[in-house]
Amino acid sequence: MTSAPHSTPFSATSYDFTPYRDCLNFIGGEWVPSHTGRTMPVTNPRHGKVMGTVPVSDAEDVARAVAAASAAFPAWRAVPLKERVQILYRLKALMERQLDEMSWLLSHENGKIFSEAQGSVLKGIECLEFGISLPNMAAGQQLDVSRGINCQVTYEPLGVCAGISPFNFPVMVPLWMLPQALVAGNTFVLKPSEQVPFGAMRIAQLLREAGLPDGVLNVVNGTRESVEAICDSPEIRAIGFVGSTKVARIVYERGSAHGKRVLALGGAKNHLVVVPDADPELTAQTLAASAFGCAGQRCMAASVTVAVGDVDHIIEGMVEAGRNVKLGEDMGAIINPEAAERIRGYIDDAERRGAKVLLDGRKAQVDGAPGNWVGPTILDGVTPDMPAWTDEIFGPVMSIVHVKTVDEAIALENSCPYGNAASIFTTNGGVARYAIERFQAGMCGVNIGVPVPREPFAFGGWNDSRFGAGDMTGYDGYRFWTQPRKVTTRWAAQHDQTWMS
Ligand code: NAD
Repeated sequence: MTSAPHSTPFSATSYDFTPYRDCLNFIGGEWVPSHTGRTMPVTNPRHGKVMGTVPVSDAEDVARAVAAASAAFPAWRAVPLKERVQILYRLKALMERQLDEMSWLLSHENGKIFSEAQGSVLKGIECLEFGISLPNMAAGQQLDVSRGINCQVTYEPLGVCAGISPFNFPVMVPLWMLPQALVAGNTFVLKPSEQVPFGAMRIAQLLREAGLPDGVLNVVNGTRESVEAICDSPEIRAIGFVGSTKVARIVYERGSAHGKRVLALGGAKNHLVVVPDADPELTAQTLAASAFGCAGQRCMAASVTVAVGDVDHIIEGMVEAGRNVKLGEDMGAIINPEAAERIRGYIDDAERRGAKVLLDGRKAQVDGAPGNWVGPTILDGVTPDMPAWTDEIFGPVMSIVHVKTVDEAIALENSCPYGNAASIFTTNGGVARYAIERFQAGMCGVNIGVPVPREPFAFGGWNDSRFGAGDMTGYDGYRFWTQPRKVTTRWAAQHDQTWMS
């Protein structure tokens, strides 16, 4: 069965609950249900009401998507890179035209406030711009390495590739992968988060409108079963994954065991170190914005403040900033009721173990929106034995740990198994440099709460926040989705020379 072309824009222009359509898989240019006939609801987190359904696909659905991608590969790789890129130019124009519509859609499926949803679509467009600029960067190297002998490197597509994305950035994370992978000449199978499938659905629809040939991008929706099928598929050459550390490790190990190239970005526990000479207002506001932006549901959110010495005045400022956050207007909802319950559980547990709750979001509610809410929460006196320090809570909870010296703060950050982000707040350049050189994190900041490297700088953490080599975006992304071919050429017989003989 084939459905209508899925071009229906989302009609909401406010937070009022608005149903959408059912999501389908996109295979070989057709919108199709899963052959299993199974679906699950997609629920608006702000209202706790169902917007539509999403297919729950199995290995057979993945095999059909892979077959479509394999069939599309020879023609797509034969399209010159400069022509492939024209489709992304058109996608950028379409996304800019649909910016508000896509942002409202994301806000409704994910629970983000509108401005955050819009920011994430704009960041997705920025990633697209990097892909668009690749023809200016992707020229390979060449050199005459001997008399009459030339070597050159070209970066060739791998074939069928796959991407698996999490719930927190429904458009941006797929666009961490698609521009480089598609521009390089690969065809693709995308498995979005089953909790937020509509953003990827709109990308596929707009790419089709932009002229992407059928089968170059395929979208298979589902849960664990479809991810496992992607890991096991013999034809898929590379997998990009973004999600929790638990699943990142599974995908990395299972995909690698099947001979694939895998880059799997995982969870985080980001430490912000605050020293007494830090600018009080900037630091307090920045800490709060990092912890409570996107309701703490971003892998770059600050979740630990390491207070070095007496920084009580900054902590007071952060509490004040958190108290001023208007739930539902400045901060969005939690993705689902189980996640909200889990977050409240961490706060209860930390309190039982002796932490002081300086700001308590456990009972927060929003009038007229009976969804999943937890307000800004600040826990003081957290110690490294508490789950509030060891675990990724992934909610609007800031845990404060007190230490006496910068070295203790660095040691604490280093003892955390994750390594996504770390920042120091200070007005002393020497202290900043000392800390940055010692943090065990792939993305570091000085007086920055969310040290996301904007394009062209590539995104990726260290340690348990990343499995595989390299980064996800920027030029590293292009290298990930390509393989270098080295060609050594003798254009004329040079009888006076031997070459490696
Ligand atoms: P998740 O790991 O639960 O899900 C990610 C993807 O894996 C989804 O598509 C999901 O369907 C699939 N999946 C879930 N369980 C699976 C299983 N057992 N086997 C196979 N596949 C499975 O992550 P999430 O809850 O959607 O997203 C939040 C997590 O993602 C947080 O840990 C956050 O830190 C992380 N994240 C990391 C980055 C980064 O760049 N490092 C970026 C965004 C989010």
